[in-house]
Amino acid sequence: MKDQFSRQSFLGEGSQERLTRLRIGVCGLGGGGSHVVQQLAHVGVGNPVICDPDIAKDVNLNRLIGATVVDVHNERAKTEISERLVRGLLPEAEIVLIPDKWQMQAELLRSCHIIFGCLDGYGERAQLEAFCRRFLIPLIDIGMDVHELENSYVISGQVILSMPGEHCMRCYGFITDAKLEEEARLYGAAGVKPQVVWPNGVLASTAVGLAINLVCPWSEPVGSTYLEYDGNRHTVTVSNRLAAVAGRACKHYHAGDVGDPFFAFDLTVV
Ligand SMILES: [Zn+2]
Repeated sequence: MKDQFSRQSFLGEGSQERLTRLRIGVCGLGGGGSHVVQQLAHVGVGNPVICDPDIAKDVNLNRLIGATVVDVHNERAKTEISERLVRGLLPEAEIVLIPDKWQMQAELLRSCHIIFGCLDGYGERAQLEAFCRRFLIPLIDIGMDVHELENSYVISGQVILSMPGEHCMRCYGFITDAKLEEEARLYGAAGVKPQVVWPNGVLASTAVGLAINLVCPWSEPVGSTYLEYDGNRHTVTVSNRLAAVAGRACKHYHAGDVGDPFFAFDLTVV
């Protein structure tokens, strides 16, 4: 199998060994996360940490990469489907499965070199970004939406790379207190959101490219960035919010707020 990665040797000297050792977390195995897992396996990422609490359902089959009708019949966990997909390409991979909400076993994510957030909702995103900042882990968030207008549908999405010490999702205005409050107010009333496979593929592919860019010397890595997807025009462009925050430091996360917060008590009173 020595030729498995021969066509990607352009990624740079030592890249494949680095990818083999790379520990990458994927939180959420919906339409976006399942694409990410598949691509990470193809490129040779040998230590994925894969999190999702759900089993595959028939409504997922229009976009859940790797899932089959038989999986739905057998009520197979999404994490197991991803594991099978990775194992088929990388039999030696050291795969960590979290068949639960990522917060329930977050300690397994602390040693990740990069984490992908493929989650629904701003609250979950805010929690994952706070976790990543605390443990100095680059976070790549992806998401898409289909909005119904009067006589048409608009597909939109985003890929945000949030680097420790650089601009965060709050800096870009993607997460705001108003959005979090609105989401909490409407909790449980969101209804069924429309979803389709190809926008997730665009977003996941762009996100995986950013991750490989961080670890392989084939191209200069970019810092924190916000890319906007227009699914009707089929474009991915740099958000103008980047220009709006240029020259300003992130004021939402502080250099000292790192490590395990549970040890931040006063030892003199113990
Ligand atoms: Zn910020």
